[in-house]
Amino acid sequence: MEASPFFAEWRHCPRCGSDRLELAGSKATCPDCGKEAYANPAATASAIILNAEGRVLLARRANDPGAGFWDLLGGFVDEGEEGLDALRRELREELGVEIQPGEFLGAFPDTYGADGIYTFNLYWTAWIASGEPSLNDELEEIGWFAPDARPPREEFAFSNTVTALEAWGERVRTSGHAK
Ligand SMILES: [Zn+2]
Repeated sequence: MEASPFFAEWRHCPRCGSDRLELAGSKATCPDCGKEAYANPAATASAIILNAEGRVLLARRANDPGAGFWDLLGGFVDEGEEGLDALRRELREELGVEIQPGEFLGAFPDTYGADGIYTFNLYWTAWIASGEPSLNDELEEIGWFAPDARPPREEFAFSNTVTALEAWGERVRTSGHAK
């Protein structure tokens, strides 16, 4: 079984330093000290931020992975952090705004970066409650896009972003509103 990309840089047991570490699928086992470790996807929290006209806020990434490509706003959840706390924190860091979260939209798996580590990406709809967006240095540009006028799939950094936008679009079509 091929080892998870999470273990790409693993050569030695992290506990005893043995070079006989066995990697199989999502599990690492050390035959010398018995240490077991598991590859788990990294959680992210992101928002489909909407304005009064039902347009969605997209950001162009300044850094790799995906530099120059479009993304939704959000980022990695810290250990022990609530999902919505992570979402609010990321929006404060990236745009300097406070958000009002709407509905939970779904969770979509994906991979990230050159090693292709697995991510598990949580999405909510949200509105800007206060503050004017000002970009931090992780972002190159932001823009409000109508649902039927967003950039093509190949201009997005990550496929889970497109999946989330499609899930939201489907919800709007079936419910007749943008929440
Ligand atoms: Zn060991």
